[in-house]
Formats: sequence, C-alpha cells, structure tokens
Amino acid sequence: MSKGTLYTVSAPSGAGKTSLVKALIENDSQVTVSVSHTTRPMRPGETDGINYHFVSRDEFVEMLGRAAFLEHAQVFENFYGTSKAWVEETLASGRDVILEIDWQGAAQVRKQIPETVGIFILPPSQQALQERLTGRGQDAQSVIDKRMAQAINEMSHYVETDYLIINDDFTAALTELRAILVAERQRLARQQVEHAALLQSLLRKQ
Ligand code: 5GP
Repeated sequence: MSKGTLYTVSAPSGAGKTSLVKALIENDSQVTVSVSHTTRPMRPGETDGINYHFVSRDEFVEMLGRAAFLEHAQVFENFYGTSKAWVEETLASGRDVILEIDWQGAAQVRKQIPETVGIFILPPSQQALQERLTGRGQDAQSVIDKRMAQAINEMSHYVETDYLIINDDFTAALTELRAILVAERQRLARQQVEHAALLQSLLRKQ
C-alpha cells in the first residue's frame, strides 16, 4: 500500500503559516492537515473541530495518560497535541499529512518518524511580524509583546528544518510550498511504490 509523507510546518505566530497551509490544501486533495487538540480558549472566528479540538486541561491530561498524542507541547500557557491514531491512519491511506506545530513538537515528531519533512516559514522582517501580530486586533499590548518574544524564540529554531520559506509575497510563498510537496512526491522510494507495476513492465525484456 502506498504511504503518505508526513510534514511539519513551523513558524512564529504571525508569519502566515495557517493561511498558506489552508490555500495549499484547498487545491490539493492528496494532502490534509491535522487538527490539533489544545487547552487554549477559542478565539473569535474559530470553530471547534475545524481550527482545533478545544479540550479542558483534564481531558488533555487524560489523553496524555493513554499515549494518544504523537507529540505535545506547552506553548505560552496552553497545551497542544497531535492525535497519533489520526495521523497514522491518514498516512496509511496514502494521503500526505501536514502538522502545523511548533519547533518542540517538530523535534519530537522527527525523533519518532525520521523521514518526516520539516518546513519552516519566516516573515520578511521583524517589523512585518510586529505589524501582523498587532493587526489581529484581538490581544492586549502586553500579550503582543510576549508573543513577539516567543516569536523570536521560535524563529531561532529555523536551522532544525529541511526547507525554509520566507513569506514576503503570499503567492510566491505558496508556490514554494507547493513545489516542496511536488518534489517530495517524485522521490524514488515513493515513486517505486506508486508506479511499481509500470517500473516492472518497463524493464521487461522484449
Ligand atoms: P495558536 O494558539 O496561535 O493557534 O498557536 C500557537 C502555537 O502552537 C503555534 O506555534 C502553533 O504552531 C503551535 N501548535 C498548534 N498546534 C500544535 C500541536 O498540536 N503541537 C505543537 N507542538 N504545537 C502546536
């Protein structure tokens, strides 16, 4: 059975990661994105089961106890985790899976599944990041300052990735993101599974 590729997409808050991934999966039925579990409160405009599975701290701890997470991390004051069963089932069905997770989670996933492909998205400047964080208009200045400090910490982990995208122009960044998935699908190991019968028939002696 063909097996999908697992991707981690990491970025500081405000780098445009979620919009890029959303645009990517809208036009590519072979790839899907994991919906994480989180203890953080729902933001305006978010929907349970779409943006995140919003759970209580007790529910999260219960899931941790039965090893339900492929990876989990604390980001700001909240906990985030990726459902292990969902990722394994989706990859086994042959679809690619994207995990939109922070550098801590990406490191845990890479350790468990070394063939995971890491993608890191960075903003074009600190100023652009600051503007994007402020532009949300949903958080107090103290929260924005804290997020900026966290963003700089997250960005310092870019060297741990396989692919780096600078999101200056959205369309260009999306093209680059698509190109990574296209290239990964042409890898020999994956093509050998995908086109096993063709490859065998091509080498048949006449
Ligand atoms: P936000 O609360 O702004 O949606 O996300 C905050 C941070 O948590 C982002 O860096 C995001 O990538 C990360 N995050 C979201 N879901 C997960 C997850 O399941 N695991 C880990 N490790 N990080 C996550």
